[in-house]
Amino acid sequence: MLALWDIDGTLLKSEHAGIHAMLEALHELHPGRSFSFDGIEVSGRLDPLIYRELAAKHAIPGDDDAHATFRATYTERLRARLAARNTVRALAGVGELVRALHDHAHWEQGLLTGNYEPTGFLKVTHAGLDPSQFRINAFADHGATRRDLPPVAIRRYRDVTGRAVPPERVVIIGDTPLDVDCAHHNGCRCLAVATGIHPPDELRAAGADLVVDDLSDVAGVLRWLEA
Ligand SMILES: [Mg+2]
Repeated sequence: MLALWDIDGTLLKSEHAGIHAMLEALHELHPGRSFSFDGIEVSGRLDPLIYRELAAKHAIPGDDDAHATFRATYTERLRARLAARNTVRALAGVGELVRALHDHAHWEQGLLTGNYEPTGFLKVTHAGLDPSQFRINAFADHGATRRDLPPVAIRRYRDVTGRAVPPERVVIIGDTPLDVDCAHHNGCRCLAVATGIHPPDELRAAGADLVVDDLSDVAGVLRWLEA
């Protein structure tokens, strides 16, 4: 069994540290220009796509080299920002649930996220979670869209454990309709948690297999995962 965690709005909240650090990076790379996220959807989306939309909106280079420079600058800005003031907090029940899955013989877990690998791990670490407990990961750089990421994690499961995991034994835990979509597109289950910006009704309408207000009922969530 494999549990794949979204980061923002699911494992943790950061007071938008990522968005602030992205804006700082853009200002560092393009002094004198002003930037905003107005009109750009970030929830549930992959960071490289967000950069390309920002680049198009503000008429700055959006090619691979420019993106690589942005990625590195954003990573350093987020690292410095969180070192100066850690605004990242794990959400209710998350720490306990991650530990329980880690200790469980039948479960592996990892991150399936729109974050870049270094910024994703920065957030997870600043939330007080142990990054070594996430072994099967798929990050924003590993696919063009979120739908591409579950197959990456399923391949990694086989590489890490030496066993195959069928998609129906994979649960994606996320806070947006895009998490539900990427799960069902790949034959996986989706546990949706309404701790992001999407209310329970919207997650239910998206077809989530289970919707919870938060993850504080750890025993109840574990029972559902095991069923
Ligand atoms: Mg999210």
